[in-house]
Amino acid sequence: MKTSIATVSISGNLPEKLEAIAAAGFDGIEIFEQDFIAHDGNPREVGELIRSMGLEITLFQPFRDFEGLPEPLRAKAFDRAERKFDLMQELGTDLVLVCSSCHPEALGGIDRAAADFHELGDRAAKRDLRVGFEALAWGRHVNDHRDAWEIVRRADHKNVGLILDSFHTLARKIDPETIRRIPGDKIFFVQLADAPLIEMDLLYWSRHFRNMPGEGDLPVLDFMKAVMATGYSGPISLEIFNDQFRGGRPKTIAKDGHRSLVALMDDVRREGQSTIPNPNIIPERSNVDGVAFVEFATRGEEAETLETILKTLGFQHSGNHIAKKLSLWTQGEIRIVINRETTGFASSAYTMHGTTVCDIGISVESAAETVSRAKSLGADPFQQPIGPGELNIPAIRGQSGSVLHFIDKRSGLNNVWSAEFANTSTDKAGAGLKRIDHLAQTMSYDEMLSWSLFYTTLFQMQKSAMVDVVDPDGLVRSQALETKSGSFRITLNGAETHRTMAGNFLADSFGASVQHIALSTDDIFASAAAMGKLGFEPMPMSENYYADLVARFDLDVDMLAALRADNILYDEDANGSFFQFYSRPYAGGMFFEIVERRGNYKGYGAPNAPFRIAAQKRLMRPKGMPKL
Ligand code: MG
Ligand code: MG
Repeated sequence: MKTSIATVSISGNLPEKLEAIAAAGFDGIEIFEQDFIAHDGNPREVGELIRSMGLEITLFQPFRDFEGLPEPLRAKAFDRAERKFDLMQELGTDLVLVCSSCHPEALGGIDRAAADFHELGDRAAKRDLRVGFEALAWGRHVNDHRDAWEIVRRADHKNVGLILDSFHTLARKIDPETIRRIPGDKIFFVQLADAPLIEMDLLYWSRHFRNMPGEGDLPVLDFMKAVMATGYSGPISLEIFNDQFRGGRPKTIAKDGHRSLVALMDDVRREGQSTIPNPNIIPERSNVDGVAFVEFATRGEEAETLETILKTLGFQHSGNHIAKKLSLWTQGEIRIVINRETTGFASSAYTMHGTTVCDIGISVESAAETVSRAKSLGADPFQQPIGPGELNIPAIRGQSGSVLHFIDKRSGLNNVWSAEFANTSTDKAGAGLKRIDHLAQTMSYDEMLSWSLFYTTLFQMQKSAMVDVVDPDGLVRSQALETKSGSFRITLNGAETHRTMAGNFLADSFGASVQHIALSTDDIFASAAAMGKLGFEPMPMSENYYADLVARFDLDVDMLAALRADNILYDEDANGSFFQFYSRPYAGGMFFEIVERRGNYKGYGAPNAPFRIAAQKRLMRPKGMPKL
């Protein structure tokens, strides 16, 4: 199955676009006429440039306002088509996309349009070219792929076929199952795009909000299953108009696009669609058991501070690495590694970001299969030299340069702790913290889609709806990704300005990702009491917050007093209740969160976030600023 992408989907000039598309592994491009016109080079040179990069031109687009015109406009439209046919032959492509007309003088009528396409087919056939007809969702007379197909059927010409575009079908809520009736060899081309569900004008929605399959809310998988059921064997191509992508890094956008297609076609195959030619067989999405470890790169005083915080959280210093400057801190199932190495990856992460989470270990069923799927999805494998007695733990680069290691029982990788660390303590006291509830990662808002695509294509994780978190200095978008069982939860926080707490963290740490680690307990009051004895300093919450809690929830006096005494925040939903408190910020805006979920509470305390952020900002106020 050939993959392709429209040049309009990627930012940059034509050579930059082509380079990014080729590097991401696509087989071809749809050349968007404007990208060609803006380029300084004749069509023959452009065609050669494209082919020199190992790409083919799968489609020339768009040819607009063709069908249904009265004379003399009709004759002019055919003249225009002949000129585009000349151009296509120079470029070296045989298929043109004709989108349904929006011309104010275009006349309706299936037979009239079919006659126009029959004649266009004759003219194309003389040059061995093909014509594909696409229904725009906002076309004047044709805005439904079923009508476009009827026109193609009646045009009855071997050089005239249908072009399907998932956006135009799904945005108008047309049942994709209707595609199954179309013979596969009459579908000349398939364009894919997803989009978030937003009620707005179709044209505006399409031109600004399309995104990669899997990044939005449209049933692109159902659409693609119906397409493949017809026996279609042409390219699958992305046509994405998106404001963020237009300003994004060409390489990242192209890589995300390819990743989305590989994952989508794998899903189509797994859902029993067996007609895919040359399917790319890859291992299925990994089942995540949980976070095996979180590793900090740090040094000197900051390392001491971090270890002190860990002690007050009830962590035990339970081991040191046999050869490297790594100390292991544990509590319940939680493992935190403090890395003070002055060479290697952690050291460069420290140099770049200051104290930072440089590595996340994830427990999976099969580490090897997880890495194999990740590689098929375009992730870069990661390898460091292995010392004597050390295990070779498979790893990849995550987003923004971080590293993910994969640990499984199957290949004994979970023995790494006894194999590589010498025990220093067997003391099992602690503060009752059990496991990592979630990791909160911060990135610029423009990169959020890329991050969620990375996680949802690699792991069996679902996205929840995006929520707006109000920081006193701007808005932060937050999106949770989680496994069905809750064994692995990530919150992605997209910052738009540097003045928000999240944005400030990004700027100060030069784009680090993990900003907070939430640790779960089964008894938050007991944990708070134990941590108090160890010298833990919670982040203080305002009196006003507790006054408001009384108004919002039906809490009894004792409960309210207990919450207030320990600076615990509270939330509830239809399924249960949620308790959380925070450490004070350390090392430039990172912090720990302690949570208890009661019943089946699904969220992350989002209604509390504005008050938590305001409280943190009070503590982080630069020295010399007046206390308000
Ligand atoms: Mg299209
Ligand atoms: Mg949190």
